[in-house]
Amino acid sequence: MPAPKNVVIIGSGPAGLTAALYSARANLNPLVVEGIEAGGQLMLTTMVENFPGHRDGIMGPDLMAEMRAQAQKFGGEIIQGNITKVDLCSQPMAVQTSEASYAARSVIIATGASARLLGLPAERGLMGHGVSTCATCDGYFFRGHEIAVVGGGDSAMEEAVFLTRFATKVTVVHRRDTLRASKIMQDKARSNPKIAWLLSHEVDEIHDTGKGEVTSMVVRSTKTGERQALPVTGVFVAIGHTPNTALFRGQLELDQNGYIITHDGAKTSLPGVFACGDVQDHIYRQAITAAGTGCMAAIDAEHYLDSIPEHLASV
Ligand code: NAP
Repeated sequence: MPAPKNVVIIGSGPAGLTAALYSARANLNPLVVEGIEAGGQLMLTTMVENFPGHRDGIMGPDLMAEMRAQAQKFGGEIIQGNITKVDLCSQPMAVQTSEASYAARSVIIATGASARLLGLPAERGLMGHGVSTCATCDGYFFRGHEIAVVGGGDSAMEEAVFLTRFATKVTVVHRRDTLRASKIMQDKARSNPKIAWLLSHEVDEIHDTGKGEVTSMVVRSTKTGERQALPVTGVFVAIGHTPNTALFRGQLELDQNGYIITHDGAKTSLPGVFACGDVQDHIYRQAITAAGTGCMAAIDAEHYLDSIPEHLASV
């Protein structure tokens, strides 16, 4: 195994690349393993208008390309690799990809969370072009439009209520006849006159991939099988997120939904292991909060490396 890296960062969304920028500028020579979905969820979005410093907005992939180049400019090393195994309990720790193994004095986990999708063919094709998994990010683009939110949990209620600020009508489509959302969130949504309800309905189709925009959505009653087309220009899929923590299960403390538990900044249950971004945040889930926690993780890793015995610390 080659000499240990000071910091290995797993993941290359806003959290991972900000951690890389800060740890590179602290002369820690970080290695970023960018994973299969390099750049994270922003690679699936179009215009980002809420990242401070970009008054006229910036395309998601362009923002990620900038962050990547900025981390590299200061010496961050970025490699592609599908991580197959990590050992966070040994010292140095071990990070294994399908091609190589790396030893690490500290590890920053920034593997994000994946929005659950319905699995329809059009969904990915129209992502960022009418289909969205983030109302906070994309709601603004639907001023004066009729749109739909899919899901029956707290996220769906929250997104539906938020989207009524922009849309003329928001139809909540949920597969069962009762909502999963908490009573208070349901009440808030139900009392909003701009929200319409299609319970016991599943989404069959989203149109129109040929045009590259959403023109309608076909839903089907789970009770009668009857199908109907909704004339919506936006579909917000709010059926939950899955944190990308399978690699760390059994090594790190996770909450009941599988998110990494952090404390005192970006610290996890293991010394030398830090977590940032959506993999430890199921509440805010914004590019800017992910970047902020990436900065915290880098500073925490720097302090950790300063504190460990010399034979483990110096390169
Ligand atoms: P969730 O509670 O797991 O709800 C997911 C919803 O999506 C459920 O209604 C589920 O239907 C539906 N769903 C799942 N897979 C589906 C599929 N393949 N097709 C159609 N529908 C599908 O997820 P969440 O709403 O994102 O909430 C996650 C956690 O964050 C919860 O603990 C929630 O309380 C919390 N949260 C809290 C707040 C708040 O308090 N302000 C806001 C947002 C989230 P079924 O009901 O039929 O399973």
